[in-house]
Amino acid sequence: MSSVSQDSKTKGKDTDPITISLIKGDGIGPEITDAVISILNASGANLKYEEVEAGEKVYLAGKTSGIADSAWDTMRKYPILLKGPITTPRGTGYKSLNVTIRKTLGLYANLRPARTYDPYVKTKHPGTDLVIVRENEEDTYAGIEHRQTREVTQCLKLITRPGTEKIVRYAFEFARSNGRKKIACMVKDNIMKITDGLFASVFKEIADEYPEIETESMIIDIGAAHLANNPQKFDVILAPNLYGDILSDIAAEVTGSVGMCGSSNIGDTIAMFEAVHGSAPDIAGKDIANPTALIKAAVLMLVHIGMPEKANLVRNAVLKALEDGYRTADIFTSEPGTQKVGTAAFTQAIIDRLGENPKHLKVRELQKPKPIVLQKPKTLEVKKLVGVDVFIDEYNNRDPETLGKKMDAMKNSSLNLKLITNRGVKVYPDGQPETFLTDHFRCRFVSNEGKDVSHKDVIDLLATFNSENLEVIKTENLYTFDGKIGYSLGQGE
Ligand code: NAD
Repeated sequence: MSSVSQDSKTKGKDTDPITISLIKGDGIGPEITDAVISILNASGANLKYEEVEAGEKVYLAGKTSGIADSAWDTMRKYPILLKGPITTPRGTGYKSLNVTIRKTLGLYANLRPARTYDPYVKTKHPGTDLVIVRENEEDTYAGIEHRQTREVTQCLKLITRPGTEKIVRYAFEFARSNGRKKIACMVKDNIMKITDGLFASVFKEIADEYPEIETESMIIDIGAAHLANNPQKFDVILAPNLYGDILSDIAAEVTGSVGMCGSSNIGDTIAMFEAVHGSAPDIAGKDIANPTALIKAAVLMLVHIGMPEKANLVRNAVLKALEDGYRTADIFTSEPGTQKVGTAAFTQAIIDRLGENPKHLKVRELQKPKPIVLQKPKTLEVKKLVGVDVFIDEYNNRDPETLGKKMDAMKNSSLNLKLITNRGVKVYPDGQPETFLTDHFRCRFVSNEGKDVSHKDVIDLLATFNSENLEVIKTENLYTFDGKIGYSLGQGE
């Protein structure tokens, strides 16, 4: 582990420097992190850096997480992390370092501002200036997947109340402290009524606490289409993890180069700042990478650690360098008055402009939002077991009528078969002959004439499945919460 100390421009500071954990990354990572550090040093930001061992070298040394064990202690000791892009080696077994860091360190909020620099950087959508706030830990990114039968795989989508509340509050606090006027929440709650429905309802609930901020709820498909076609109409977009991931790339694409978008990953105690792009191995070591995305991440970092004046200094110098015609290859279009420069010359152009302000490009002063405090639920809902979904593997016998009759005949003190579905569609009783059948059936048993259901009843039922030679692959208990059902109905139920 090595320490990179800053230059003499910060001498004479009366406070101790803040130490930043630094991952230089792979591919273009080292070039662009060096560029960022030289700009930060020249800005006089009172920082020093502690390098963390992570990335391709660590992966190839046999550590599938891509990060050395000692790195976690360093990041805990110096909880602000500046990270260059990492190359994830191809092949199974290597875990994405980004996902590991985000989830291990509880970095629940992913913030990605995306703006255009028109007329200086060509764009189809002049005047775009939006921020994506993406939930960063939950959803299908919990990574809980199973192959259940020869034909069927599943991935669990987990949306939790506290996780949603945190990200929704973060989005509103961010909007409030940064003068943003409107939040569009994008989900698919017309289909996923329980998971996305929870996200949408927490959004509506918390919106009442921020009456000055306009809100809009959009279905993700039409929301993504509008973002691609008309990004100017958005201010803040809030979304669960998977949709937020996709929306962030659309936003980066429609606003210009991926080399221009930075992001922050915020947790309660630790925060990580990075470019949205990858390690670009195709241009590594050629002095042509655009360092702007990582510089923008560093600007977010400066705001986060309480150095907003340094953030403004750096951001303004970047905008002035663009106005003065400096372009890296990815954003160069041969316009009169512009020149194509390499990473080092672009960096120097920014350093030379520290202290200057852009003349035309819009400047938005960033503010750090208030820390999020979760509200305790006022009352604990009454949770009642009312049935069970039993999932079975039936590769050889796919006749719903035979299966249904067998289960109708099962004796249980309080549970009765209600229906059987295949991929969510009812196939018994009264199934339709056109419905395609896989080898994976969900058999729903509910309380017989309102009798109380116990866990023992469920276990007895599973024993009956076993004695009938039906292979149970999993069960999901059916609950009500304060009398409201906590499970979706089958299509056709
Ligand atoms: P990429 O973002 O590295 O590159 C996509 C394209 O954009 C390439 O043509 C590249 O040259 C260009 N590009 C990217 N950044 C640029 C910049 N700053 N300046 C100019 N041009 C730039 O995506 P990829 O090729 O799909 O992935 C390469 C590697 O990066 C993979 O190993 C992938 O796993 C990894 N990756 C890492 C991160 C991360 O660490 N945050 C994110 C995405 C991909």
